[in-house]
Amino acid sequence: MEKLSSKIPFMTKQIGFIGLGRMGTPMAARLIDAGYPLIVYDVRKECVEALVAKGARAAVSPAAVASSVDTVLLSLPDPPIVRRVALGADGVIAGSKVRTMIDLSTTGATAAREIAAALAANGITAVDSPVSGGVAGAVKGTLAVMVACPKALYAELEPMLKHIGRVFFIGERPGMGQTMKLANNLLSATATAATAEAIVFGVKSGLDPAVMCDVINAGSGRNTASQDKFPNQVLTRQFNQGFATGLMYKDVRLCLEEAQALGVPMTVSTGVRALWARANEELGAGSDMTAIVQLLERATGVEVKSK
Ligand code: NAD
Repeated sequence: MEKLSSKIPFMTKQIGFIGLGRMGTPMAARLIDAGYPLIVYDVRKECVEALVAKGARAAVSPAAVASSVDTVLLSLPDPPIVRRVALGADGVIAGSKVRTMIDLSTTGATAAREIAAALAANGITAVDSPVSGGVAGAVKGTLAVMVACPKALYAELEPMLKHIGRVFFIGERPGMGQTMKLANNLLSATATAATAEAIVFGVKSGLDPAVMCDVINAGSGRNTASQDKFPNQVLTRQFNQGFATGLMYKDVRLCLEEAQALGVPMTVSTGVRALWARANEELGAGSDMTAIVQLLERATGVEVKSK
């Protein structure tokens, strides 16, 4: 342990981690395994306890985390929660030691910019660093990590972030990583919704969904839903990809709001948002995002499953 710690750059020697959910827990665990001493916080005690059992230290609030370490990572559900944890009375901003806050959550560029400005006024640099690749990617350390921050800081943080995935420098302006992430998730949301429609269309007319996936994956319709989500989560009726419908709906909504502010027309994506809004309402925000196919199953009376 001593030897490993001495190789770690000073800036990132001690790390705080707030938000130990489906993504946060495996990312934090990888950092512990890489030798980083971690101090953690989550409103859910059971998540904190699981990481303490792996060697992390627990803190009582985001401010307490930020009073113990110079670098704090966040992995939280949505912009209002990130804002509260970053800027609230007991938030990161109230910490006495913190210099850098790295947000791994998906919040959109507008929130990232607002939070960065408020933190900068208190001498804290915000890094937006949203991730893509799902729970499986978080466990394996194969996430796409989309970083926006000053270049010199990026050079300091990259060795640490490499433990959670492939790190991309997107730009220096706050929010650039978030814009990249929303573009990525708009495609993922669209592929999932469109694949649900295509597969239900085929099943309703008598095709086998497993054969359909094989053909699509050998052909030009191939995408992450046809390659992974449908064969592994829908056809098996597991619906356990690990990404909540509510979070996917949030990402699509944020993307369209930001596109509108930029004056970018989003014709296809407007329909995609409508389908995710229905999934969020009818299946529940906590349902797995792969359950979106059930909207079409209900409308058509078919079930997409392996024979
Ligand atoms: P999650 O709901 O599983 O985890 C969020 C965690 O934040 C929970 O443990 C919750 O208790 C904690 N939390 C909520 N409010 C808090 C507060 N005030 N203080 C401290 N902790 C608090 O969500 P997730 O799936 O891990 O996603 C986290 C972020 O990563 C989201 O922004 C999501 O959009 C993004 N993301 C998720 C995936 C995925 O596949 N799940 C993939 C890429 C990005």
